[in-house]
Amino acid sequence: MTTLAGQSDVEAVRNATDLVRLIGEHVMLRPRGREHVGLCPFHDDKNPSFAVVTHKGNAFYKCHACGAGGDAFDFVMQYHRMDFGEALRFLADRAGITLKLRQSEHAGSAGPRRMDLRKANAFAATFFQRVLNAAEAGAKAREVIAQRKISDEMVRAFSLGAAADQWDALATMVSRRNLPADVFKAAGLLKQRREGDGLYDAFRNRLIFPICDELGNPIAFGARKINPEDEPKYLNSAESALFSKSKTLYGLHLAKRSIIDSKQAIITEGYTDVIACHQAGIGNVVGTLGTALTTEHARILKRLCDTVVLVFDGDEAGQKAADRALEVFFAEPVDVRICVLPDGLDPDELLKQPEGRERFEQAIAASRDAMEFKISRFQAQLQQAAGISARQKLLESFLGELSQLGFAAMPGVRKRLVMTQLADMLGVGIADIEAAMPRSRRPVQQEAAVVDTSVSRRVVGDEDAAVSRARRIAERDLLAVLIYQPELHCEQVDGPDGSRGAVTDVFDAADFADPVSRSVAEAVFALLRTTGTLTVQQLLAQLEQPEARSLASTLYFEGQQRCESPILRETTPIAAAAKSLRAHIDREQYEHTVSSFRQIRNTPEQAIAALQNILEERRRIEQQQGAIASAIPRGVRS
Ligand SMILES: [Zn+2]
Repeated sequence: MTTLAGQSDVEAVRNATDLVRLIGEHVMLRPRGREHVGLCPFHDDKNPSFAVVTHKGNAFYKCHACGAGGDAFDFVMQYHRMDFGEALRFLADRAGITLKLRQSEHAGSAGPRRMDLRKANAFAATFFQRVLNAAEAGAKAREVIAQRKISDEMVRAFSLGAAADQWDALATMVSRRNLPADVFKAAGLLKQRREGDGLYDAFRNRLIFPICDELGNPIAFGARKINPEDEPKYLNSAESALFSKSKTLYGLHLAKRSIIDSKQAIITEGYTDVIACHQAGIGNVVGTLGTALTTEHARILKRLCDTVVLVFDGDEAGQKAADRALEVFFAEPVDVRICVLPDGLDPDELLKQPEGRERFEQAIAASRDAMEFKISRFQAQLQQAAGISARQKLLESFLGELSQLGFAAMPGVRKRLVMTQLADMLGVGIADIEAAMPRSRRPVQQEAAVVDTSVSRRVVGDEDAAVSRARRIAERDLLAVLIYQPELHCEQVDGPDGSRGAVTDVFDAADFADPVSRSVAEAVFALLRTTGTLTVQQLLAQLEQPEARSLASTLYFEGQQRCESPILRETTPIAAAAKSLRAHIDREQYEHTVSSFRQIRNTPEQAIAALQNILEERRRIEQQQGAIASAIPRGVRS
């Protein structure tokens, strides 16, 4: 996988990248022991299954639940859906390294489409900015900016632009520069004329808000009308291969750091609300693009923070959004709070008032848990209900509603907390709540919870019936110890056929019967023989097969367990693992000899010779019976 660029480039970039910092920009990591852990960004993770290992020269990540794993390049490729060339350039830029080889510019599996769409959007963003600064063409847009009191700093940070009041400003520029018009059409920037084959601008006479991905690359545009008579007020780019409204949060590239630091994300509805908050120094604010908070949004945010506060400019809007927010709250391990701003003001209006920032912050602090929000509405109904049976009916219908929203699918601990809260608020016992709670009407798994990672999670090599389970375990154990503690490879161990020496001398990759283990063994032995040591990322750099890559990082953790297990007191981890594998190799050789004896006893001479071989084998094997027994895990022995 390093063929796209010079090996030295790849090594230099890998060495210059601080993996914890890189991943920490996207995932909230907490130190645990010698590792850092967090919620896995590659599957629908409820518990922190994702570990980043930077111990003993290693630098790799591994998800214990979905199996995703790899080095800095893998992370960037998987997370940002880049190809290797893009990931290399991205990490090199980040580390301030100038790459020696740049010919891989157009290579890669992401396809020309996405890359071309990116380029078209980047070109348009620059074009719109230039229009905004143009003396005449941008004058009206600058007036709107001034009216809304958006500072120059925010205009720059959010790369605001303008579309000129004409039908073909961008179209003319695209054709003059000989750029591929069909790509601009696919990006939703140009439209086909109804008559003739000409193209015209999708955005005319509008203030332009580029919508960026997490890295700050424009992937779509929001456009606000300048002329009061125009309709609609806001236009958005159509969805494309780059842009999906339900997965995009406006301003995330600017807000991410602050969201991670504050462990809280504030969600507003409009572009100008997000900008107003940032301008007021409240940096952890992003916007949904005209949709309610989706589970996809929540999935992005839960990696970054614990709490999501939805801001609404009025009680009614808040009420309506509460149900949707609850659904998200039930589905994802993130606390969703509802904040209703005073006097029906939106964030932009409020922040521009005297003491606006203080009042905004007070409102955020006074925000209510989405559940509490819903319960308080229910409580009001309950107070009006007369009689025990009327109240009981109300409670049942309320719990039914919660159940519809996915309450039953909530993980146990969180569910219990909500139930306690509910019981407290209603003044009843948890048992009553439980009894009244209807069974889930939803499947327990959410729709998109299926792991979407390219790394295989099946037990490696299990379909290969020719290799016994016990042998496979013995092979993996030896590799695990070598990967976790490569320095042990020098230790003297017993090898097959009565040999004794360093592991790399008495064993060879060919001794590994399982094909995937053998690939890993080849890389392990090659590194140990040439450099005397190894790290997981060095192994990953040599392994291409996804199963082998996944196994290599899994074995690190198995090695950790094995090496730190108190059970192995009388022997060293490497000696124990070597002994076990040797026993398997020898025993299988013996069995092979026996079966060849059965096949070749055609003549008495052949039979006697074969029998002598068997007896000799047998004698040697008998000395190792203990080893064989201990090499076979319980339940497999027959
Ligand atoms: Zn995972």
